[in-house]
Parts: sequence; C-alpha cells; structure tokens
Amino acid sequence: MVVESKYYDILGVSPTATEVEIKKAYRKLALKYHPDKNPDAGDKFKEISHAYEILSDETTRNVYDTYGEEGLSGGGGGGPGGMNAEDLFSQLFGGGGGGMFGGGGGGRRPAGPRRGKDMMHQLKVSLEDLYMGKTSKLALQKNILCVKCDGKGGKEGAVQMCRGCNGQGVRIMMRQMGPMVQQMQVQCEACHGAGEQINEKDRCKHCLGKKIMSERKILEVHVERGMRDGQKITFTSEGDQAPGILPGDIIIVLDEKAHPRFTRKGDDLIYEAKIDLLTALAGGQFAVPHLDDRVLMVSVIPGEAIQPDMIKVVPNEGMPMPRVDSRGHLFIKFTVEFPQANWTDENTLKKLESILPPRKEVPTFANKHVEEVVLADATNYQGRSGSSAYEEDEEEHQQGGPGVQCAQQ
Ligand SMILES: [Zn+2]
Ligand SMILES: [Zn+2]
Repeated sequence: MVVESKYYDILGVSPTATEVEIKKAYRKLALKYHPDKNPDAGDKFKEISHAYEILSDETTRNVYDTYGEEGLSGGGGGGPGGMNAEDLFSQLFGGGGGGMFGGGGGGRRPAGPRRGKDMMHQLKVSLEDLYMGKTSKLALQKNILCVKCDGKGGKEGAVQMCRGCNGQGVRIMMRQMGPMVQQMQVQCEACHGAGEQINEKDRCKHCLGKKIMSERKILEVHVERGMRDGQKITFTSEGDQAPGILPGDIIIVLDEKAHPRFTRKGDDLIYEAKIDLLTALAGGQFAVPHLDDRVLMVSVIPGEAIQPDMIKVVPNEGMPMPRVDSRGHLFIKFTVEFPQANWTDENTLKKLESILPPRKEVPTFANKHVEEVVLADATNYQGRSGSSAYEEDEEEHQQGGPGVQCAQQ
C-alpha cells in the first residue's frame, strides 16, 4: 500500500508498476514533453522527470511509498536529489555531452539528446475530403528500438565500450610524411564506428545487436474541414527511433488534387456555369452539384440579364474554415451559350425587334465612300494573317464541320 500516488499518476502507471514499466512510461512522456519538441508544455517535462527520478530509485521509491512526498523532502537531505531534468534525460537516452556526437568545439547545442530527422509524407486529398473532413489511414515503415532488448543490443551489461577507440568510434592515426607528422581520423575497425562492442553470445537475437527494428506503423491522419493545400499535420516524435536520440516528427503534407468542377481560392470556391441565352435573359435555373451530397439549385431572376464572363456569388457556400463556424463564398463565373447559326426563321427573328432593346443607330459618313460587305467564317481565314486574330473555342470548332482543322506550327 502506498500513502499517495501523485508521482505514479504523473507517469500514468500504477503504484505496483515494475521498474521497466516506470522507465517505459517515463521514456514515452519525456519524448512527448521534451522542451525541444513541445515548448508550450511548460513545467510538464520537469514534473515528469522529477517523478521518474524518485520512482526509478529503489530507496527513494520506498520512502515515497511509505511516507509520501513529505518523507522525501524531510529525510532525503543531501542524497543524489536535485538532478536536473535534462541530465536525467541524457542519462537515460545517452547522447548529449559525450564527445561522440559533439562535433569539434563549436557545438552550439546545450546538453541533451540529438534529435532525429523529421520524416515528410505527402497525402493526396480531394477537394471533397477537404470540404467534409476525413480520417485517412497512412501505413508507413519506421525504425523503433528493439522491443526485446529495449534498444540495448544485448543483455543488460553486455554492451561494452570499445577498447580500441575508447568509445569514440574513431581513432587517431599518425602518419609520417617526410618531415611532417600528419594526424588522421579513421573509423575504428574493431567496432565499425559504433564505439561499443557486444559479445557474440550476449547479442540480442531479435535485432542481432542492431538495437533497432523495423515496424509497420499506421497513422490516422485527421484531415479537418477547410484545411488547405500544403498544410502540415505533425505527429510529434513518431519519426525513426534510435538509441540516444530524440525521434523526429512525422510530418504529413496535404496535397490538394485538382477538381473537375471547382477552383479553390483560399476559402472561396469558383464555379464556371454555362447557361443558355434564354436563361440569361429571361431567367431560369441551373444546378451546381456541391462538394457534399447537396445540389445547389440556382435561380437566375428574370430580367437579371446575365452577361458572358459576369461573376456572381452565392454567399457562404464556399469552403468551411477550420475551427470557425464560418465559410467562404461560392463565386459563379458565367458562360452564356448563344444559339447556333440559323437557329430559327426570319419571322421569329423579326419578333426580336419588338422584344430586345433597339439597335444602336449606325452613324452616317457623308464624305466617305461606303461599301457593303458581308461576314465569312473566320476559321477558314486563320493563318493567312499569321496571328491568331480569332481565338478558337474547341467546342465550336468541333461543330464547324469537316475540313476546318487549321494547321498551326
Ligand atoms: Zn534487440
Ligand atoms: Zn571502436
């Protein structure tokens, strides 16, 4: 029975936890809350480290179990207490301070473990996914510390510092070059640069002394509504594990796929609507299938006179904005489809004169010679002028009948 469980609670273990369980819990939390990874966590890292410091030592753990926190501050006295959180962390994870990774002299990094590389992954997402939000499962292969030897490479105590290089992984060789002695750094051949050796028989059978193993990891990526192309989703410390390093992050970068109907501009959507001349002039409806299962039935008000390339908006039907109850707008850019040539008879056309606004009057040219001309189809004449005076529209082109393909080099 223990009198209090605060330190156990901090590490998220039960008071009956074994030494190994406590160490595992600490490792997990320390990686998560290390100030390098999680600068906003405040004193959490220190708290975790302090709890581990007490519980990892049999003597202090016994005192704590029997007398609680009070017993420690009273009796502990001069003991090993007061170890700083970073030191403790380095002690457990190796690295830090040692000459091995320090890099000559100018190493700016304060004591603490090296940090592994971040791993980037692209995740292709459709506009629909970004509109509605989605959870994607992403499988990837990563290195983890060997679970059998806990990343030690062998039995407890089996790993010995390499005597050939004093644990440095490199040796200094002297070479006589004429009158000069040249110093060379070469990789230690006894340990292949690892700085340590493991006896063949004590070597972990699971990882063959490599300390790490490969694991297939499934990440659940929560794509939130309204997220954008290029946005990053970070999985802290989920990168490759290796002894003595703080794993880097796995960073998922969203890659928005182009959409056949919508173009996205920030939180707004742009939709190109093709309507016929009658709808443009006399009103009517057209449908916009949205990114969810809704269809927006848009009304053109009679008399609104939608013109080609006109832009209108359906407010608040754009992309949702992440974490805000607000949306962008849906802009609609119009293409007005005019009737085909010879779509009706002369009588009907005459009627238009009484319906449409009157023609603009043609000015008179008193002192000029006026010649009457008619129009021909420009497609047959393209290329003669050398420039593209007529910008061809693909669909119209297809309807232009045979033989109107114009050679363009
Ligand atoms: Zn192993
Ligand atoms: Zn060596």
